[in-house]
Amino acid sequence: MIRFARASAAALTLFICMQVAGAELPKAPPLLPPDSRYKADLLLVVAHPDDDVVIGGYLARIALDERKRVAVIYCTSGDGGGNAVGYEAGASLGQMRIIEARKALASFGIENVWFLGGHDNPGQNVLWSLDSWNHGRALDEVVRLVRLTRPEVILTWMPNYVVGENHDDHQAAGVLATEAFDMAGDPTKFPEQVSAPRNRVGMMNRTEGLHVWQPKKLYYATDAFEDFGPYWHDKDQLSPFRKNFLDGNGPTYPNTTVSPSRHKSYALLMAEQQRYYLTQEGDIGIDAIEKNDLSGFEYPMRLIFGKSLVGGSVTGDVFEGVTATPLPFTPVPGYHPKPRTGVSLELGGPWAFYREFWKAHDLEHLSELLPVPEVSTRFGNVLNIPLILHNATSTAEEVKLTEELPSGWTDKTQYAVYPVKPGESYPILAMSLTPETGNAQWREITWKAEVGNRVVGSVTMRVFVSKEGVLPQ
Ligand SMILES: [Zn+2]
Repeated sequence: MIRFARASAAALTLFICMQVAGAELPKAPPLLPPDSRYKADLLLVVAHPDDDVVIGGYLARIALDERKRVAVIYCTSGDGGGNAVGYEAGASLGQMRIIEARKALASFGIENVWFLGGHDNPGQNVLWSLDSWNHGRALDEVVRLVRLTRPEVILTWMPNYVVGENHDDHQAAGVLATEAFDMAGDPTKFPEQVSAPRNRVGMMNRTEGLHVWQPKKLYYATDAFEDFGPYWHDKDQLSPFRKNFLDGNGPTYPNTTVSPSRHKSYALLMAEQQRYYLTQEGDIGIDAIEKNDLSGFEYPMRLIFGKSLVGGSVTGDVFEGVTATPLPFTPVPGYHPKPRTGVSLELGGPWAFYREFWKAHDLEHLSELLPVPEVSTRFGNVLNIPLILHNATSTAEEVKLTEELPSGWTDKTQYAVYPVKPGESYPILAMSLTPETGNAQWREITWKAEVGNRVVGSVTMRVFVSKEGVLPQ
């Protein structure tokens, strides 16, 4: 009883103190909204300073004439590229390319531009770029900038292995942007970004005060041969095996239209944009303008539909269905292991990654763009293709790998028979030497896995072989 009386007296004292303190303190100011200077309608996530040119006509259209707010992230400074006009190379070239990009985008009124500082890795394997950039650190940055810019739409490179330029950094930019699209609305991802600062006007705040954000639509671009951009024009290099995968898979915008605000065609605006990139193919823009021949810039701007959380059609306008109302977080299916039976053979490496990545991010239609996987290589070169043998049986198996190669090609794979224990996934590197010379050509290779004399799995790949213009595998 005495204990109760003491406790009640203490509670009463505290209540009185709180009342007095409340009466003396002023009312809190209204909560500050997110900084509107950084709000974007569209966030472009690319790899190199000059990647913006491939879809420059579309950027000019929305930034100049539709008055959309555009922000841009470059994952690298382009320090691995060549320099067409000087000896500055490596990190110095990267610093120059940053300025080239800022000026090119400023010509369209785009000023919110960030560079993440990853190295430029000329190659074709997306996993190598993600490793080089420190995948987690780079994703932290992209998610932060999605939350800061609160874009309605994200536009990025297509995360897919496709013959064309097929730069691994481009693909990695597409992977990061896709991951950030599905992550920025989730407060458990990079939670330090969305926790309030202890004292916003004080120093040493480590939590960042951003808000979660769910973008509404995701689109992709590609610089595969089908684009017919200023970089390549060779129709003989188109695949005879399949249709142009850009057809009907996203919106198209003509570049011959005249910009109402600038009274110039979007093709000319794109040539002017290219002109800023003097260290890269700036001369293509300069020549086109001097000779008044814009044919290299008049190809339509074709985008690939990724996904929409607000409806709209695949080929409809990018901003179709977009309203100012924020969306709640929309989770994606995520990874679910695939049940396997028997012994099977699959592509490994980046192809294995994409197979699961598309499913995890609700983008399975991307697997239909190229129903048969493809790769590019040079003449006189060893083509390295990662394969995986899975054994889902309860017995150890000896699996024989055979390769059906075009004439003139040589099998250089190290082993022919693989011991695969129950439950094991055995990685293989299939190696094929291409002929020394020839005309640019498309060929097919098939690998088969046999147990006893029975074929238990096969993989076919289409290979584009040429003399030059192919990034290292
Ligand atoms: Zn690039």
